[in-house]
Amino acid sequence: MTSNTVDIAIVGAGAAGLMTAIWAARRHPDQHVVLLDGARKLGAKILVAGGGRCNVTHHEVTAAAFAGASRKQIQRVLRRFDASQTVEFFKQQGVTLKQEDTGKLFPTTDSARTILNALLKAAHVANVDFRHPQRVETVEKIDDHFVITGDWGTLQARKVVLATGGRSIPKSGSDGHGYTLAKGLGHSLTPYLFPALVPLTLPKTHFLSQLSGITLPATLALWSGTNKRLQTFTNSTLITHFGLSGPSVLDVSRYYLDAKQADPATRLTVNWIPEITSEQFEQALLGLGKKQPISLLRQHLPERMATLLLAQTDIAGAQLTKLQRKQLVELVTRYPLPISGNRGYNYAEVTAGGVPLAELNLKTLESKRCPGLYIVGELCDVDGRIGGFNFQWAWASGYVAGNSIGDALETTSTR
Ligand SMILES: Cc1cc2nc3c(=O)[nH]c(=O)nc-3n(C[C@H](O)[C@H](O)[C@H](O)COP(=O)(O)OP(=O)(O)OC[C@H]3O[C@@H](n4cnc5c(N)ncnc54)[C@H](O)[C@@H]3O)c2cc1C
Repeated sequence: MTSNTVDIAIVGAGAAGLMTAIWAARRHPDQHVVLLDGARKLGAKILVAGGGRCNVTHHEVTAAAFAGASRKQIQRVLRRFDASQTVEFFKQQGVTLKQEDTGKLFPTTDSARTILNALLKAAHVANVDFRHPQRVETVEKIDDHFVITGDWGTLQARKVVLATGGRSIPKSGSDGHGYTLAKGLGHSLTPYLFPALVPLTLPKTHFLSQLSGITLPATLALWSGTNKRLQTFTNSTLITHFGLSGPSVLDVSRYYLDAKQADPATRLTVNWIPEITSEQFEQALLGLGKKQPISLLRQHLPERMATLLLAQTDIAGAQLTKLQRKQLVELVTRYPLPISGNRGYNYAEVTAGGVPLAELNLKTLESKRCPGLYIVGELCDVDGRIGGFNFQWAWASGYVAGNSIGDALETTSTR
């Protein structure tokens, strides 16, 4: 019979919720651990991750790969469950991970399904009680227990974990309702919540849209209004019909959107030939002699791009004026991208902002505002770069919460 009074209720069966449930149930097999999710099919985000291959973690995970809360706060959680423990955890479930040249780790099957199945199996073996589709509408603390409700009924729990994710890909089930639940239980949210790891848009008629489909390595540099370089990312960059995407763009997006919010004079520039500095490119132009500048561009860029970039200038022959030379140097190596916006939550891999880590006890991830409540995963004010960092945060935060949540309940279980 389905019990509606349980020890631990975890809201959200994504990466962080599954990990929390597995460790909570393993550590205290006597306790009744329930995992609720609004989705009919579990693990939507795990299945789409890494282009369907699931980039599980990165060989080197440090807090420097994350933004949001302070590095010190993030590191306190990360160090409790590092990348080697992730590798070992999956190995114990029969899943081998392989490291690629980029440092990213994927299952050797190249299938995200392997990761989801391993997590679901580990949770079933540990006796986690899955309840879905059961979307949670409200969570209320009454005396020493929580009352959880939805259109499916009511559940009473002694401890609750919010693992509802952020707002990215709302149709996957992570539609931001977790923020309302956290606020209702006494938490604040960062003043900013915005899409991160998100493609950026350019004005519709921008000349670059003619290069839609071209992918090339490029350096994106973020500059403050006072001309201080804030971030640079060099990686594959994809020009699309709407603007720009690819790892370099996704990585810089959260820093750009954050800085732009605070200072409208923030700029994003691109160097289409990352192996060459502006000065080196200018020298190369000066050294061309009677050769046409297009010959230099062709050495480094696809033909279509070389021609189009040159067409943006008034350069006609081989002889460049100083002004024309400067114009070409800027266009090729430090072009200020007129970003018009971003593609929004439907295309963002994560959400920046969330519940401040300062409101959680970082040894346990228990709320300082609402004892008995725990918060894990993307709902926290932590977002990582491309490379497996966001999942590593989900595994680590789930491990920390799962291993501590049952301790206070040890003597009296509802089972
Ligand atoms: C396209 C894409 C590709 C990605 N690729 C990678 C990658 O390769 N590597 C990487 O590290 N990261 C990747 N990420 C990011 C990663 O998927 C997330 O950081 C991670 O899934 C967050 O885990 P989570 O458990 O906190 O939240 P989620 O995975 O969002 O899970 C939250 C769960 O809570 C449920 N839920 C929400 N609200 C409620 C409610 N009110 N009641 C009940 N249930 C609810 C949802 O249905 C969902 O199942 C990718 C993201 C996207 C969108």
